[in-house]
Amino acid sequence: MALVVMKFGGSSVADIGRIMNVASRVVESKKAGNNVVVVISALGNTTDALVQLAYQITDHPPAREMDMLLSTGEQISVALLSMAVHAQGLEAISFTGSQVGIVTDSAHTKARIVDVKAGRILDELEKNRVVIVAGFQGVTLDDHITTLGRGGSDTTAVALAAALKADLCEIYTDVDGVYTADPRIVPEARKLDRISSEEMLEMAATGAKVLQVRSVEFGRNYGVVIHVRSSFSASEGTWINKDDSRMEKAIVSGVTHDTGEAKVTLIGVPDQPGIAARVFRRLAEGNINVDMIIQNVSENNVTDISFTVMKEDLESSNRIMKGIVDELGAKGLHTDEGIAKISLIGAGMRTHPGVAADMFSALAEEDVNIEMISTSSIKISCVIRAADLKKAVNAIHKKFGLEKGVVMHE
Ligand code: ADP
Ligand code: ASP
Ligand code: MG
Repeated sequence: MALVVMKFGGSSVADIGRIMNVASRVVESKKAGNNVVVVISALGNTTDALVQLAYQITDHPPAREMDMLLSTGEQISVALLSMAVHAQGLEAISFTGSQVGIVTDSAHTKARIVDVKAGRILDELEKNRVVIVAGFQGVTLDDHITTLGRGGSDTTAVALAAALKADLCEIYTDVDGVYTADPRIVPEARKLDRISSEEMLEMAATGAKVLQVRSVEFGRNYGVVIHVRSSFSASEGTWINKDDSRMEKAIVSGVTHDTGEAKVTLIGVPDQPGIAARVFRRLAEGNINVDMIIQNVSENNVTDISFTVMKEDLESSNRIMKGIVDELGAKGLHTDEGIAKISLIGAGMRTHPGVAADMFSALAEEDVNIEMISTSSIKISCVIRAADLKKAVNAIHKKFGLEKGVVMHE
């Protein structure tokens, strides 16, 4: 008997009709002979609505209380889905993250799973029940409720699949699978049949929100076979970590975009050893992740340093940077929220020179200015104006013929 983890996202459980649809798919899988563990998100836009409520009270809601609040969304959806499965004639039982021992660190609102105690779920499966677990949440060792960051139900699902040694983790969502670009931005985007976890990791990390990046990490580390597919159709989606023999050997596999970052520039800092260390140490101490960094050529021994941070960290970053400006006697600080980052991902870049040149040409042909560039062995990212995002992503997608399918490399 196979053990399957089925995860359904918010839009898949947006109303009672859709919850009944999810229940039918769950019942179908169970009747086909599987042991079924379900992970679901909060109904529709519930999490956004809860966030809004908090911000009507204060601009700085305490992170612990945010987690108490946000975790309620998934508690509602698991109970309703359990009722719906019962209504369709099977036994089901719902649990919060804490009840099934999803243990996390104490980084409220972006906690990491450190342990999953699978015993209770296995006991319930033994009783022939469908087990329904609230996504996106966990509990610290000293019993505080945590959440795993937006999109965290994906990570709950893959972490459970790893802990239960499930045969398969199915991620049901509102698109048919992982595409060569966000189909909402690029109408010609093509569904990928398979993608390697290293490329999926880069896609998720650079903005393809179809999977939370940590879920892909778990999948890779524990060899979980993941199938991303539609809640609304039976069609085959995208496989990750299936056997790699039939893997598409494309030079590039996708273009992603991210409008969640802001650019910060320290103007006129002394060009001396130790300055960058000081700036970025301070940001790290403030628990702020920095993504791209660029330092200009110095003139008269002063230079500008620019970097990007998540928009939600901008306020904290500004507070820290103002202190740094005073300490270093820098000329000033500039912040810019009108940027977007676009990234091209592909394992074939390692062996194919010219990919970056083609990407930059695609942007130049559309008159899009590049403000920052960073690369890894299988990724090139550029910061551009947010207003240019759509034409830039479409131009790059077209330049590499991503709509046409596989460009083989030897
Ligand atoms: P869920 O609520 O099911 O978790 P999400 O909204 O988190 O769904 O993720 C699905 C969305 O991800 C899609 O609607 C799509 O717009 C977006 N997306 C961005 N990039 C991609 C991509 N490369 N492939 C597929 N979907 C993508
Ligand atoms: N409900 C949470 C969110 O909206 C978790 C998830 O959907 O994965 O981010
Ligand atoms: Mg999601």
